[in-house]
Amino acid sequence: MDVRNKLEILADAAKYDASCASSGSKQARAGSLLGSTEGMGICHSYTPDGRCVSLLKILLTNYCIYDCKYCINRVSSDVPRARFTVDEVVRLTIEFYRRNYIEGLFLSSGIIQNPDYTMEQLIAVARTLREVHRFGGYIHLKTIPKAAERLTIEAGRWADRISINIELPTAADLVELAPEKRREDVDEAMGDIREEIDQRRDDRKAGLKPPTFAPAGQSTQMIVGATDSPDAAILGTATDLYQRHRLRRVYYSAFSPIPFADDRLPPASPPLVREHRLYQADWLLRFYGFKLDEIVTPAAPNLALDVDPKLAWALAHRDQFPMDVNRAPRELLLRIPGIGVRSVNRIVDSRRHRAIRLADLRKLRLPWRRVQHFVAAIDHLPRAKDLESEWLRARLGGNATGLRQLDLFEAARSAHSGEV
Ligand code: SF4
Repeated sequence: MDVRNKLEILADAAKYDASCASSGSKQARAGSLLGSTEGMGICHSYTPDGRCVSLLKILLTNYCIYDCKYCINRVSSDVPRARFTVDEVVRLTIEFYRRNYIEGLFLSSGIIQNPDYTMEQLIAVARTLREVHRFGGYIHLKTIPKAAERLTIEAGRWADRISINIELPTAADLVELAPEKRREDVDEAMGDIREEIDQRRDDRKAGLKPPTFAPAGQSTQMIVGATDSPDAAILGTATDLYQRHRLRRVYYSAFSPIPFADDRLPPASPPLVREHRLYQADWLLRFYGFKLDEIVTPAAPNLALDVDPKLAWALAHRDQFPMDVNRAPRELLLRIPGIGVRSVNRIVDSRRHRAIRLADLRKLRLPWRRVQHFVAAIDHLPRAKDLESEWLRARLGGNATGLRQLDLFEAARSAHSGEV
């Protein structure tokens, strides 16, 4: 099998990983063989400083000895298989890089032989790129749970970001659908990475110059909708990972039905809007000061689909609104639907100099249709208290599934910027 065929199979197999989301462009360059970006795993991701970079996103191989029921690459799946050699991935990366198609590499793999052997192969790619080719671009390596700690640490030496997929929201879900994987192994590997990152930080504080280790931190991916686990369990696991292992990002990936699937899997994907609501809730938990039990409760363990979680909270707490933008503390301004962190910061800055008026709010280009009911300014006092919550919800939200109302551009913008 030639490299182009391998690339076709292994770029396609990598698309199920949500850690970098978009796929190749339609541009084809006449006469090019390896240079065409069509369907060939060019994806985009964001560096810690917010820069959008193009990455070559591929698997080293889609052979796998495990049988995770939700995965197209599981051992029992009847799909075309391919395997790159280390040199082939290195060559592809360098050639794509020289042609300016990519700025980095996102490399994952099915498990071949055993976790240690697979990790050694992934590391060999990154090490060769760094040491032999002096490659300075972005490298994101997936690491394999149960691989030796020394290998995880070596992966962090060469990669900018490393990630281990938590896969499913609960340990029981893993037992059900991924019998070879154990939550404890994932947890242990994440703990090893966190300790290494902490150690380097402490060394730097002490004036030492420790070797680089995963400067863009660690992330993970959770599949949504493969089991009945509610959003409360998904967000609970994410919160726990952020707190205990200081993950940079948890990515939520809606389950995609696969051919010849196990009976325990649902026949259809969850609505796209559910994934979007989870990202919004994730931002609220990390940057807006919300607590988990303000967003999901035992009585309502799933996020509403028709309104975003911040609006849902505001509608359930009408007594707190309209919020006076000239007097409310920053942490309360962050709770106003439609006003994101950047806008709150600008309001807080501006009001030091003068009182905020309606015209100032309009200049912030806020989604005024939503915001107007929840804010008060010198010359704006809405009669929101007189309005029924149900009326507001119907006016500002979508339908019960939320599908028709999901604006993909707005969703993509908010997923990146975190403005809710
Ligand atoms: S270990 Fe990874 S590649 Fe293998 S079956 Fe499970 S999810 Fe798929």
